[in-house]
Amino acid sequence: MRIDKRSISRDAYRIVDTIQASGYEAYLVGGAVRDLLLDRQPKDYDISTDASPEDLRRVFGRRARIIGRRFRLVHVYSGGSVYEVSTFRRRPDLEERRGRDTDSGLMVWRDNCYGTVEQDARRRDFTVNALYFDPVPGDGRLVDFVGGLDDIKARRVQMIGDAAERLAEDPVRTIRACKLVGQYGFSLSSDLRNDIRSAAAALDKCANARLVEELFKILKKPHTCATFGAASDLGVLVHFFPELFASWSTQAGHVCRRILASRDAMLAEGSIYPSRVTGLAMLMIAALKEQLEPDWSQPLWVNDAGIDRFIYEWSRNFMRPYRLPKQVMAKIRDVLLMQPKMLRGRSRKRIRRHPEFKRSEDTFRV
Ligand code: ATP
Ligand code: MG
Repeated sequence: MRIDKRSISRDAYRIVDTIQASGYEAYLVGGAVRDLLLDRQPKDYDISTDASPEDLRRVFGRRARIIGRRFRLVHVYSGGSVYEVSTFRRRPDLEERRGRDTDSGLMVWRDNCYGTVEQDARRRDFTVNALYFDPVPGDGRLVDFVGGLDDIKARRVQMIGDAAERLAEDPVRTIRACKLVGQYGFSLSSDLRNDIRSAAAALDKCANARLVEELFKILKKPHTCATFGAASDLGVLVHFFPELFASWSTQAGHVCRRILASRDAMLAEGSIYPSRVTGLAMLMIAALKEQLEPDWSQPLWVNDAGIDRFIYEWSRNFMRPYRLPKQVMAKIRDVLLMQPKMLRGRSRKRIRRHPEFKRSEDTFRV
């Protein structure tokens, strides 16, 4: 199992090369290395370096932007894409972890402590996510401090360090484990399954913004059915997405899984666009149908007066406890409202002019 250098994005390669040419260490890291080893095209590249954000500003000038308060990262713009470059960090020690900001319900560290590449590997979540690849010399050089390569070969998920402790430290890792199961078919030991089960309740205390970020990342990839399925099995979904979980074992849940499987297949072949609006609309449509027209032999529902308001409120409730921007919720409502019209194919000309036609059509085709 090795990485074919030709499959690495030229821009990502160039950024690593440029940082190294300025006298620093730099690697590709995380999901990109994992995907390259598994012969999948990475969706985004994370780059890790011993250069500080200020150093990177000096190297890249106006192409670099320092972002983030908690962990300062640098976004480097290249070839129309953004690459995330982070400085090696270490896991805060016990004393620093005690100073964690739990009062605001955010569960985040205040500190931003730089470290070595090995410390940076050990603060990551799973071994398969902690591989470093230096693409510059010869065939490239893989750096593995935690046995991640063996775990990728064996297709298993292992936490770095004590699983219960690392999951309690950041419960979002329970969702990240479900993604590895759903997206790659990796397996979990029964101990890790139990630890995830026990840790998932603490998702309720996590910053909603972080959970929504994981949700949107799941919806971008063509493995939503398996990922939500794993989350349901592992006791994560009930905390991560309570309303989806509530319908998961009903008839609507069964229909929802068929919709997701079909969406995944169409996403994989590139015949629909990986929009989060359509993704969410597709998660909702079966439950909404059950609410509005419980007879499954009847097509969808009738768009009576006032239904737009109803769907808007209903879908806001479906997203509980998250509050997505109004524009996003309005688009979801419009896509859902369009479905019975698409089904009847009535006045298609008028429908086509609707700003949400493309998204409605993707949803309808799925
Ligand atoms: P994806 O393909 O979805 O981007 P990814 O593993 O790259 O998967 P990112 O969210 O891009 O996920 O994170 C990049 C890397 O940062 C991860 O591979 C992991 O090493 C580390 N990481 C991300 N989130 C956490 C976390 N909650 N705890 C510890 N390490 C994390
Ligand atoms: Mg990534």
